[in-house]
Amino acid sequence: MSRVFNFSAGPGMLPEEVLKTAAGQMLDYEGSGQSVMEMSHRSKVYDGIIKTAEADFRKLVNVPDNYKVLFLQGGASTQFAMIPMNLMKNRVADFIVTGQWAKKAWQEASKYGKANKIASSEDKTFSYIPDVSDLPISDDADYVYICQNNTIYGTKYRELPNTKGKLLVSDVSSMFLSEPMDVTKYGLVYGGVQKNVGPAGVVIVVIREDLITDSPLPGTPTMLTYKTHADADSLYNTPPCYNIYVCGLVFKWLLKLGGLEVIKKMNEEKAAILYDFLDNSKMFKGTVVPEYRSLMNVPFVTDSDELNAKFIKEAEANGFVNLKGHRSVGGMRASIYNAMPKEGVEKLVEFMKKFESEN
Ligand SMILES: *Cc1c(COP(=O)(O)O)cnc(C)c1O
Repeated sequence: MSRVFNFSAGPGMLPEEVLKTAAGQMLDYEGSGQSVMEMSHRSKVYDGIIKTAEADFRKLVNVPDNYKVLFLQGGASTQFAMIPMNLMKNRVADFIVTGQWAKKAWQEASKYGKANKIASSEDKTFSYIPDVSDLPISDDADYVYICQNNTIYGTKYRELPNTKGKLLVSDVSSMFLSEPMDVTKYGLVYGGVQKNVGPAGVVIVVIREDLITDSPLPGTPTMLTYKTHADADSLYNTPPCYNIYVCGLVFKWLLKLGGLEVIKKMNEEKAAILYDFLDNSKMFKGTVVPEYRSLMNVPFVTDSDELNAKFIKEAEANGFVNLKGHRSVGGMRASIYNAMPKEGVEKLVEFMKKFESEN
């Protein structure tokens, strides 16, 4: 068996230890005689799996008692509609557009009400985060929406916006569980799990209880109403049982490592190896304004498309896969999520040095 270093922006790598545990339990989960894939979601054994996953998540993130944790389906993108359907009471929300995902959320919300773009960094290909300290927040806005780590562009907020008392809603998909987060700063914070946490399809929503309404916008489907899932502890219908189980294994892995402060340190170390190299290389350059650099997604370029293509091809042949950048930025992007070992980043940098000296 030979595993590659996978720098994909998503789905990303999972910890090898987690994959081995899942493999070991594949045919017989803890003496139940069944795979988790086969069990009834109403069984006692599955109830233990989902309840433990939620409890471990709460412990990791330090989720206050007045917030619900929901395991939902449809990935992060379904939240682009579900959030306005449930939170847009006045049918007004303010959006800070810092990349494609924020833009998609803004466009989707505009189907349900007035979605104001109050700031954007599109003028410079989303290579920075705008000043968010004193924005023209709308008086009647139901919430202010951000995408906190911009997967495609490799930027991250250094500070949360001053929402002037309005609720903050944040998409943290590509930085989920990569560092501590203060849930009390948000009305709702959510992430698709396939970047840092587990198999694609699941989205974890952390929502303040008083925002869970039984009167979402007229026409909102039952399945897209937070209250449906909150009242049923994420078991209203058949949840993505296996994916939630793998998320649970990842929570245990993080707890065993020492929690989110520890993983943050590890992520900072990994990112520093790559950014330090980029800052000193004559051939490779980071594309983001340094103070807004992401710890998770690191886009970089050379000054020629041919050289970029050659690099990506040779990297792949050497076991560094999925380094091609998003088409809107070009060049390369190394996503170095929680499960990417430090060794993967060190070896990538060694390979980049060698490539630079040969070309
Ligand atoms: C990947 C990603 C999404 C989309 O996730 P899906 O689960 O594919 O819908 C949304 N927001 C951010 C920040 C992402 O990185």
